[in-house]
Amino acid sequence: MTLEERISEWMDAHEAELVRDISRLVAIPSVKGEAAPGAPFGVECRRALDEMTALCGEYGFATAIYGGAAGSADYNEKPAALDILGHLDVVGAGEGWDTEPYAATLGADGCLYGRGVDDDKGSVIMALYGMRCLKELGLELAGGCRLIYGTDEESGSADLPYYYASNAPAPNTFTPDTGFPVFNTEKGRYCVKITRGHAADADAGARIISASGGFRANVVPGDAGALLAGITAGEVLALASGRAAALGVELSAADTPEGCRVAVHGRQAHAAEPWTGCNAVTALLELLAALPLGGAAHEDAAALSRFFPHGGWLGEALGIAQEDEVSGPLTISANVLSIDGSGCTLECDARVPLCANEENCRGRLVAALAEAGFMADGEMSPGHHTPGDGEFVRTLLACYEHYTGLPGECVATGGGTYVHDIPGGVGFGAYLPGFDTRLHGANERIRVSDALTAGKIFALAIARICKIKEDN
Ligand SMILES: [Zn+2]
Repeated sequence: MTLEERISEWMDAHEAELVRDISRLVAIPSVKGEAAPGAPFGVECRRALDEMTALCGEYGFATAIYGGAAGSADYNEKPAALDILGHLDVVGAGEGWDTEPYAATLGADGCLYGRGVDDDKGSVIMALYGMRCLKELGLELAGGCRLIYGTDEESGSADLPYYYASNAPAPNTFTPDTGFPVFNTEKGRYCVKITRGHAADADAGARIISASGGFRANVVPGDAGALLAGITAGEVLALASGRAAALGVELSAADTPEGCRVAVHGRQAHAAEPWTGCNAVTALLELLAALPLGGAAHEDAAALSRFFPHGGWLGEALGIAQEDEVSGPLTISANVLSIDGSGCTLECDARVPLCANEENCRGRLVAALAEAGFMADGEMSPGHHTPGDGEFVRTLLACYEHYTGLPGECVATGGGTYVHDIPGGVGFGAYLPGFDTRLHGANERIRVSDALTAGKIFALAIARICKIKEDN
């Protein structure tokens, strides 16, 4: 039997245990909580850390815990060759579940449901099973393999310094926190807050009293609204309904004692992928700009709409549109709006390609907005790239191809991953292309058969990167 076949047979024989161990972690609601002694990210994150550490110990791996924030399990005591970095914290369950989010539930469709089954508890267990498989096959490795599990990935990765302050990264690191095949390029990020102050509008004429939309700088807003004076709901609907339909949003308006309340409903999305949503803020700005209104707040709306036309997330109007072959185009999404009697603010989230720099990106945006009287504050942080043609990435792709029969290729992402600051790090697993895990949403899921495939891929990758000794 070849190594590949032995791995496959072992993994298939351990399906029930794999599901059971994922369930052990999912049962702990490890959402970030208040810091407590020995639990910098809350007691539930610490419980998840302890449970994972116990599990690794049960399979015979030497474990360690770092400041109550992260843990590790070692395959052997050989010089470091590979780190696998995952996390045990989860985002909150939210609404809309058909099953209990903190109880992994096997569906008739062959999928396992629960918060964290994919991101990232299930994926961490799949990596552990890669190690367990090789160990139980009795294979000795020439290099060291370490599984590292943190507890603060979802809230800013403040867990990583607890580990990396006293431990150097291995020569190779992958995180099973993205998807297959290999994510080797991450765009940089430029979060910018745009402001302009003005005097309150004179109390006369048709005007904007206030406008707002969005709730988080990294979320494309699904809802936005405004309060108008000197215009009726009937007039707004007659003038703007056609344009709203063309923009792809729902528009409603109602006359109230305070004025005419306008609401725009689009579709929420992640700021790294603005094309998957329909931005209610940019639609609102465009509709307000076209209404027969006057005053400073209306000038704000019209000016912002020129810089951020609805659907124009490439930054063309700001003079920063650019792209490179490795990371793709720059995107910028206007996500949190506030306009009132004293001025306006607009928070934007740009994902910038590797070719972006201070001169061709931030400098140009600041200058373009300054010309219109706006201030633009924010720092730009660089992207991350690990060459796709090195031995490490080629090995990962070959292992993926072996068990999936799918073409292995490198992928770029606009989101920042857990290995953003780790030199040579890549994202690798654990869901397969085309499968929707409902990341961070209700009914998060994995396909159990895919989890076994991921376990096999990880086992083979560990064996090849850490090199099986000749006499095995
Ligand atoms: Zn994650």
